[in-house]
Amino acid sequence: MKLIFLGPPGVGKGTQATILAEKLSVPHISTGEMLRAQVAAGSELGLKVKSVLDAGALVSDDLMLEVVKDRLSASDCEKGFILDGFPRTLPQAEALSSLFKEQSLEFDGACLFSVDEKAIAERMASRRAEENRSDDSPEVQAKRIAVYNEQTAPLVDFYRDLSKLIEVNAEGDIDSVTKKLFSALNLS
Ligand code: AMP
Repeated sequence: MKLIFLGPPGVGKGTQATILAEKLSVPHISTGEMLRAQVAAGSELGLKVKSVLDAGALVSDDLMLEVVKDRLSASDCEKGFILDGFPRTLPQAEALSSLFKEQSLEFDGACLFSVDEKAIAERMASRRAEENRSDDSPEVQAKRIAVYNEQTAPLVDFYRDLSKLIEVNAEGDIDSVTKKLFSALNLS
């Protein structure tokens, strides 16, 4: 399956993407993870994006598109992929649609994970304790949610208009969300 995962920071997309990628034997492509790996490696790209990540802002569309195009051209993406964290802006979504069209590739859907804001704050607090990410402080988290509401939330209508939106209620524990996700995708 070829899927896009959408939803606010802290909603649990990454956890569900890891589980589903294993089930489907397809790569889990997390653009955030890819960027953090570049920062950790001190590469040219990593140095360029570090301050953007730390501020909770978005890396430029052009740069992100280059990163994703390159990753999707790898042979392990032929039988499917889960794109987690991309697209995040309307220009990214439009560029991705053009890329799919160029490659005559039909994707299966954009899974939207939603929970109420209080649940997100609780999940972020526990992730902060576990992962120690430099962009997980309460201030940067608030900024990331504002950026999501402004720049990424419009993608919900974008994919709904394409009849590609798959809504998943992400309330509850990991197992129960996985069950809802599998059922929305008609997987057993
Ligand atoms: P994530 O792990 O998906 O929450 O991403 C962490 C950070 O990486 C984001 O706050 C952005 O700074 C950057 N990032 C990841 N994906 C994208 C994207 N598609 N467009 C722009 N910036 C991104």
